[in-house]
Amino acid sequence: MAAWVEGRVLERIEWTSTLFSLRIAADLAPYKAGQFTKLALQRGEQRIQRAYSFVNPPSAPYHEFYLVEIPDGELTPSLGALQPGDSLLVYSQGTGFLTLDELPAGRDLWLLSTGTAIGPFLAMLADGEAFERFENLVLVHGVRKGEELTYQALITSLIEQYDGRFRYVPFVSREEWPDAISGRIPAAIGDGRLQARVGLEFAAEHSQVMICGNPAMVKETQQALLALGLAKNLRRAPGNISAENYW
Ligand SMILES: Cc1cc2nc3c(=O)[nH]c(=O)nc-3n(C[C@H](O)[C@H](O)[C@H](O)COP(=O)(O)OP(=O)(O)OC[C@H]3O[C@@H](n4cnc5c(N)ncnc54)[C@H](O)[C@@H]3O)c2cc1C
Repeated sequence: MAAWVEGRVLERIEWTSTLFSLRIAADLAPYKAGQFTKLALQRGEQRIQRAYSFVNPPSAPYHEFYLVEIPDGELTPSLGALQPGDSLLVYSQGTGFLTLDELPAGRDLWLLSTGTAIGPFLAMLADGEAFERFENLVLVHGVRKGEELTYQALITSLIEQYDGRFRYVPFVSREEWPDAISGRIPAAIGDGRLQARVGLEFAAEHSQVMICGNPAMVKETQQALLALGLAKNLRRAPGNISAENYW
């Protein structure tokens, strides 16, 4: 039965002054790559809880979450203060539909993210199943500053392992950054810069697109893709676009 269980921080990864990852030991029910659960801290009588996506493939011996500390946020400053050995509450049941088994078949899988919402896509890529189902995989990560392009070791190992089949495209909006496209994801789809960089087009016959993160990016990216003839993926009407908002 699903319940709140105690988790213990095994390790913290410090990426920038506001970005960090927590590796946690907790006894959770099985979950799928792409899903999320809830983390919480007890404050007196009150349990402050928020949703967080798993970054690890489900087979990993720990549960990993990638977070940004929101100034004045209710929960993240306290999660950001956790150190190895500290405990927190974890909901034992993962949930969410941003998973590979919700996708129709296709040739190309595009994973479009902003900020910490790269997490569920890293879980899917590290899991390996995405590479069994799709020929070409594209991971797009939009951030404001170059230092926020995290998880580079994992991304580099995927590029090496899936030579030619896996492409990574960073977007940096607030400074020039080597190899990054400057600006925002929806604009670069609208004017074709993203497709030109990757060497693939969006097409209803063979593209599946997952979008996750900032709600403005999710909405505008969906609009840009609808304008190219793609359709939202619904259970009653399979299409091309699946999305999850982080707030
Ligand atoms: C399905 C789902 C999965 C999520 N997974 C993650 C995750 O893996 N990592 C993560 O950092 N957050 C994730 N979030 C967001 C998370 O649940 C919290 O909203 C966030 O951590 C802020 O909590 P807070 O109490 O500190 O801020 P609050 O006091 O609740 O303030 C919320 C405000 O913070 C901003 N905000 C919230 N999340 C983000 C974010 N990720 N990046 C930039 N600004 C943000 C928005 O302006 C929002 O209105 C997820 C949300 C959903 C719905």
